[in-house]
Amino acid sequence: MKRGEVKLITDGKRIDGRKPEEMRNVEIKLDVISRSDGSAEVAFGKTRVLASVYGPRALFPKYLQEHETGILRCRYSMAPFSVDERKSPAPDRRSIELSKVIRLALEPAIFLEDFPKTVVDVYLEVIEADGSTRVTGINASSLALALAGIPMRDLVCACSVGKINDTLILDLNGREDNYSEVDMAFAMMPGKGKITLLQMDGLVTKEELKKLIEIAKSTCEKIYEMQKNALREKYRVSE
Ligand code: ADP
Repeated sequence: MKRGEVKLITDGKRIDGRKPEEMRNVEIKLDVISRSDGSAEVAFGKTRVLASVYGPRALFPKYLQEHETGILRCRYSMAPFSVDERKSPAPDRRSIELSKVIRLALEPAIFLEDFPKTVVDVYLEVIEADGSTRVTGINASSLALALAGIPMRDLVCACSVGKINDTLILDLNGREDNYSEVDMAFAMMPGKGKITLLQMDGLVTKEELKKLIEIAKSTCEKIYEMQKNALREKYRVSE
């Protein structure tokens, strides 16, 4: 079956019972790795990603150092047991690409220029994959970076949107991701109104694109509140 040929919406309901613009249940856990400087686990439904941050720390070998700025390194990896069939733990083309786009989505938020010659490492481990792992990973990284005390311009919030059976939808699950007509990964710094990631597969009209971005932006605003609430809870900051 090709993209667009699988029936994914029946009587206005998606295969997991959601309405088109309904997000899955979001779960946030902070400080899940005691050894790291900051860590968080975020789940969107069955998709669950762990982020662990180390740094800023001196970067070796020295020739990798940038004298004017610190650098950010991200490693996205899928656990062998995270998908139906065993996934080889070795980095593949997909994880290399995802590591790069996640880095690009996070970089604008970090004051790396304040930490020359250092590196901030973000390790992402997909524990269970059911669609939208890169955006789930970006949310987990944003929280882990904040917990590591890394100075940030803003939190980075992310979600996926797309189109199935001619209907625009929010937060694609694995099956929807595989058979969607369009899928888009979106990240932004909501407080700054800046988009830091926009990747899209498939074809849309200009109107549909505008609507997808609108859904993604308003969802990121909601995720922003969830991230802030989780951090406030930890530090018990009263309004
Ligand atoms: P994202 O997870 O960010 O949406 P993709 O669009 O590349 O990225 O992947 C979509 C979904 O396809 C994943 O979330 C996962 O559920 C599934 N998937 C990806 N890689 C594999 C794999 N090697 N084996 C089985 N399923 C996979």
